Amino acid sequence: MKNSSFINIKRIIYTILAFVTILCVLYCVQWEEDIKCKIGIRTQLEKQGAGEYAYILLDEMKYFPVYPDNTGKADCYFEDGYGTGRTYGGERKHEGIDIMSSVNKPSCLKIRSVSDGIVEKKGWLELGGYRLGIRSSSGIYYYYAHLDHYKDGIKEGTYIHAGEVIGYMGNTGYGPEGTKGQFDVHLHFGIYIDKAGSETSINPYHLLNYLSKKRKGIKHGNKTLERNVRTLPSGSRRTCGKI
Ligand SMILES: [Zn+2]
Repeated sequence: MKNSSFINIKRIIYTILAFVTILCVLYCVQWEEDIKCKIGIRTQLEKQGAGEYAYILLDEMKYFPVYPDNTGKADCYFEDGYGTGRTYGGERKHEGIDIMSSVNKPSCLKIRSVSDGIVEKKGWLELGGYRLGIRSSSGIYYYYAHLDHYKDGIKEGTYIHAGEVIGYMGNTGYGPEGTKGQFDVHLHFGIYIDKAGSETSINPYHLLNYLSKKRKGIKHGNKTLERNVRTLPSGSRRTCGKI
């Protein structure tokens, strides 16, 4: 009787040890992947002359800018369209990333702030439509454009917490105030840093990719993506970067 109790206790201990070992291995794999992503982001930013901002951005950017739609009605997805040519308003380069909605319907997805910060700019821009500019305490400027409308109560000077809903995805811009529908519903997201005294855009693609992966969500191939975020099939949607 004593022997059988002893064997049972041994079995329980071995099972617990095996479980803990598996958890440790999984944690280490995830940790290694996380470190690799962060090194990749730093390398990308170094190529843009902004390497010193890598850890500040990774520290203050806590949320993917599109709020997950738990009803499953709308997905969002994006590709690296930074720097592509644009013609509306003259020849220029696309200074951000377009995060598209799978449902071409204004307000179908909520937009949230990636970081803490203060609303510095709110209102209409011919190119950006209804836009918000939020300045973090480190001085980085986050730009959210083509909103359908803002969340009630948001005004210049409002303090925003990371993850707070600030507005709704839309298709505003490319004309006088109120112009809608010149392109498909999406969020144009930009990041601006100070470079030798002038505000300069950097490519947010790798940071957005990181934010979409590190959050809990569905499995996609061998990668975990945040629910409702996937890579944009190349050339499949009409974005502000292509007009
Ligand atoms: Zn854009």
